[in-house]
Amino acid sequence: MQVAVVKEVFPGERRVALVPAAVPALAKLGLAVRVESGAGVAAGFSDDEYRAAGASIVSRDEAFAADCVLSVRSCGACGEGWCADRDRLRPGVVLVGMCDPLTAFDACREAADRGASVFALELVPRITRAQSMDVLSSQANIAGYRAVLLAANALPRILPMMTTAAGTLTPAKVLVLGAGVAGLQAIATAKRLGAQVSAYDVRPAVKEQVQSLGAKFVELPLETGASETAGGYAKAMGEEFYAKQRELLGKVVADSDVVVCTALIPGQKAPVLVTADMVARMRPGSVIVDMAAERGGNCEGSRPDQTVVVGGVTILGPTNLPAEAPFHTSQLYSKNVVTFLTHLVKSGLPEVALDDEICRDTLVAKGGAIVHPKIRERAGLPPLEPPAASPSQPA
Ligand code: NAD
Repeated sequence: MQVAVVKEVFPGERRVALVPAAVPALAKLGLAVRVESGAGVAAGFSDDEYRAAGASIVSRDEAFAADCVLSVRSCGACGEGWCADRDRLRPGVVLVGMCDPLTAFDACREAADRGASVFALELVPRITRAQSMDVLSSQANIAGYRAVLLAANALPRILPMMTTAAGTLTPAKVLVLGAGVAGLQAIATAKRLGAQVSAYDVRPAVKEQVQSLGAKFVELPLETGASETAGGYAKAMGEEFYAKQRELLGKVVADSDVVVCTALIPGQKAPVLVTADMVARMRPGSVIVDMAAERGGNCEGSRPDQTVVVGGVTILGPTNLPAEAPFHTSQLYSKNVVTFLTHLVKSGLPEVALDDEICRDTLVAKGGAIVHPKIRERAGLPPLEPPAASPSQPA
């Protein structure tokens, strides 16, 4: 079986799906690895390194002629580049990558129409045995780190307390909203840089994790008993809840030099946690990094990939922070891909073991149709008969 790694075509995407060090692991599985020329260059990996690891360097067309194509961004996640790649698909080809299947389902349908099998890595179930395949976690972790560095660079003050002969500087106050994977890493990074860190999350279970990183957990008198799904994600709360939350958060936000927003609800628009009015109450020079900007934003006024300055407050809306540390994010993503592919191969690829939760939950398209129940529902398609087993991934 031939496996190919393609060069990413999405603007600004610098990651690569497989690093040279991972080639031998695939060879051990009996897979021959092709790498599109230049695929790893933006992440710091040359064609020669892939060659030395045992891969053959090929053109994009040759890469798409392989049995399985690996990418960071595939289908709806690779932007306008998808149109050209869609026409390269052969019936039976297996695509593995992040596909944005819950929102960009049209591209998945186009891949299905061409007979491709599509595995969307965003849908890897968050279960213990799939932890090393979890691309959302591996990438969000580094994104949280980068968000704090962005804030530190944009801030007209330093983060740590500093006692010098010329006087003592007080530490910056950093508030992290949403303490999932990205948020916890943002807290840890801000702590390492010496800031005074506090954090808030709607899921009460997070309090201990925040405190274990040495940050203060912001307690709000809100009824949050029903805020967590069985899978550990936040549930969408009513508008009344969010209004109350914003009111209570106002003072904490106004008192912060940096706010890092990471709050998300899977498959939905991000909740607004910081209003324009709250921004207006912040000190000029303060910085907000809205990591949810691409999903509508946690902060009113944030714009995807833009810097907005309102009343002296800088609002950043980065949408692809993992691409800013491509050497390491590619290394982690590559490990996720190898573990996932190993699982697929051991489960009988090109057949798909639908009795296995990991294979079933990630399979979006096969045999000319979208087969994932949730994505069929989103795309307005009727359920398949007999209905496919329901995935465990909340979406
Ligand atoms: P996410 O990106 O969906 O959301 C980020 C955070 O925003 C979450 O902590 C969420 O509770 C929070 N949030 C949502 N609405 C909010 C609001 N109104 N106010 C404040 N915060 C709000 O989440 P994630 O980072 O992907 O992780 C979610 C959960 O999944 C965590 O419990 C994490 O531990 C768990 N997880 C499990 C595994 C595993 O078992 N393999 C792997 C990764 C993550």
